[in-house]
Amino acid sequence: MIKVSGLQKKFNDLQVLHHIDLEINKGEVVAIIGPSGSGKSTLLRCLNLLEVPEEGTVVIDDVVVNMRELAKKDMYRLRQKSAMVFQNYNLFKNKTALQNVIESLLVAKKMKEREAKVIGERLLEMVGLSGKFDNYPSMLSGGQQQRVGIARALAVEPYVILFDEPTSALDPELVGEVLNVMRSLADKDTTMIIVTHEMSFAREVADRVVFMADGKIIEQGPPEDIFTNPQNERTKKFLSQLS
Ligand code: ATP
Ligand code: MG
Repeated sequence: MIKVSGLQKKFNDLQVLHHIDLEINKGEVVAIIGPSGSGKSTLLRCLNLLEVPEEGTVVIDDVVVNMRELAKKDMYRLRQKSAMVFQNYNLFKNKTALQNVIESLLVAKKMKEREAKVIGERLLEMVGLSGKFDNYPSMLSGGQQQRVGIARALAVEPYVILFDEPTSALDPELVGEVLNVMRSLADKDTTMIIVTHEMSFAREVADRVVFMADGKIIEQGPPEDIFTNPQNERTKKFLSQLS
């Protein structure tokens, strides 16, 4: 299980997350939606400590971290529990698709190259990139690069995959291939938290939708409830502005 309690994050004087509480079950797919600047990315980044919150606790699986007493060892253990898929892929430009996928297996897990390659090739096949093992990012389309990003996230077998607008940098015709990979992960009960502007995808794939505004969780529930029968005025206004 993932359990976030009382999470607070400031950037200088700006309070970006206000006492966030959130629980996510193993195998659950949660979509986070909300206006620009509402703290969605910051919340994801706090879960793997790319940003360090001032207050609160984060539990992922068997790792419990209290931000008030954050030891290096705890940071490392918590980071191991998640993998992030970024909007702009963040691949190593000077490494091939396969090298990108296995990098963390070689460096963090100290796996032998031969062993890592078997895993990397299997994952690239799974995301539909069998013929592209040796391509550098510059020789891949945006959708293909993002699928490498997803394969790389899967390589470390994280408890949860954190997606921050994984399709928003893509040309419209490439969005579908990335969403298809994510859909198949959801079908395999991969635990995923997805910050997204793809409302129809959230509606179809998410078990739960969380609406954030001004650094707070305003409303959450099954996609059908949030999209067809939102209770809060902020949620109603946000959804009505989309269409
Ligand atoms: P978007 O939909 O545009 O991606 P978001 O909901 O992901 O928005 P965040 O990126 O989490 O929003 O930002 C929340 C607030 O924190 C914004 O006001 C933003 O300007 C501020 N912020 C984010 N990162 C930093 C930073 N590193 N330093 C200072 N302020 C930041
Ligand atoms: Mg963001």
